Amino acid sequence: MIDRNQCSYCGGHDVHVMEKEYALSEPYGGEAFIQVHVIVCNACGFTADDSEYNDPLILEGLSVLKRQSMVNVLTDLNGLGFSNASMERTLGLPARTLARWKNETSLNPSAAALALMRIIRTFPWILAVADQRYDSKSAQSMVLKQAFSHLMESFSSDGDKELFQRIITSEGVGGSNIFSQSK
Ligand SMILES: [Zn+2]
Repeated sequence: MIDRNQCSYCGGHDVHVMEKEYALSEPYGGEAFIQVHVIVCNACGFTADDSEYNDPLILEGLSVLKRQSMVNVLTDLNGLGFSNASMERTLGLPARTLARWKNETSLNPSAAALALMRIIRTFPWILAVADQRYDSKSAQSMVLKQAFSHLMESFSSDGDKELFQRIITSEGVGGSNIFSQSK
């Protein structure tokens, strides 16, 4: 329990509440800024987050971005030519599941649902793997085909220079740095 009238460091009562901008972001959901409260001690300068006030605001803000993320991911996939019905069939989801995730604003898709759709948005060819009933041989050939076509693309003059650099410097591929976040 945070005492908004007392400094938790020096115990002084000369404190005030300051508003501070706080940035939120979600993959494929964009960014949002909210105003959080910080308790500042006028005597010693100690600052403390008013987590009781801030945490619900942060959760609410993130939940809006997560919903937006789902909408963006499904809109992108539809734009790439994947219909909701075909994705539902491929993934074995009940009919209209994706339409509901996209359109029903009162509905908050689960964390697992959001993770699934973000992975598919990042690697849309995963749908073809699912279509082949996850057969490991055809899955491997699809990975290699994707890798090969990206590699060839990166060699071409109008290719993705950044991708090419990453491939030749092995930055973010293989080995122990596979999970490391590249900047
Ligand atoms: Zn203080």
